[in-house]
Amino acid sequence: MQKGEQLYEGKAKKVFATDDPQRLIVSYKDDATAFNGQKKGTIAGKGAVNNRMSNLLMQRLEQAGVPTHFIEELNERETLVKRVEIVPLEVIVRNIAAGSFSQRYGVGEGVVFREPTVEFSYKNDALGDPLLNAGHAVAMGLATESELETICAYALRVDKELREFWAGCGVTLVDFKLEFGRLPDGTIVLADEISPDTCRLWDSKTGEKLDKDRFRRDLGGVEEAYREVMERLLLRI
Ligand code: 5GP
Repeated sequence: MQKGEQLYEGKAKKVFATDDPQRLIVSYKDDATAFNGQKKGTIAGKGAVNNRMSNLLMQRLEQAGVPTHFIEELNERETLVKRVEIVPLEVIVRNIAAGSFSQRYGVGEGVVFREPTVEFSYKNDALGDPLLNAGHAVAMGLATESELETICAYALRVDKELREFWAGCGVTLVDFKLEFGRLPDGTIVLADEISPDTCRLWDSKTGEKLDKDRFRRDLGGVEEAYREVMERLLLRI
């Protein structure tokens, strides 16, 4: 597999072409941003943790019937993935109130929901990824109704699998963000990453935050938290 030209550089990853037009190489960076790019920094070792963790979790999800873009881990920071057309939605699943949900609806951080909830944001940095509903997404041509049904079903399956998995590591899965893509034949697959950048993970006993909120809120111990969740995952996988 030949690594080709860089096609895209995002906040946390670079994407490269390969000699196969249907395959891309994703390269994970240590760069961290928050609040729509207003806060910038570096988390040493983050790229390696996110690459490994995302790949291990995606392989687990494949076994649970959720198709993903994952093909093969190439090295510590790089992974071969299927080329997809990204559906421009952030699909957020919440089990416990936190973050923007707590702010928007005045529900205290830590309040456990009666059932998981799925919400969408429009993936658009210039607009600050605004919340939108399924009707808006269909009206704007971002996804069809049937694609949204598939996406919601997969998102809830991911939640069930990952909640159980993390619980076995002594970690509570509070919420997370997923992105989906379309293969050339229109099949919807899970894309992007699943990592402490995109999930809220709390120690089940102490409630300690083991995710990017440590960076967002200047809580310190950011590198240690990423290492800690990775170690716990490796003991269980
Ligand atoms: P909130 O909407 O409460 O800020 O985020 C909900 C969940 O989705 C959190 O786990 C958060 O990490 C993730 N999330 C939401 N938006 C983004 C984003 O733009 N980038 C990343 N990496 N994660 C996000």
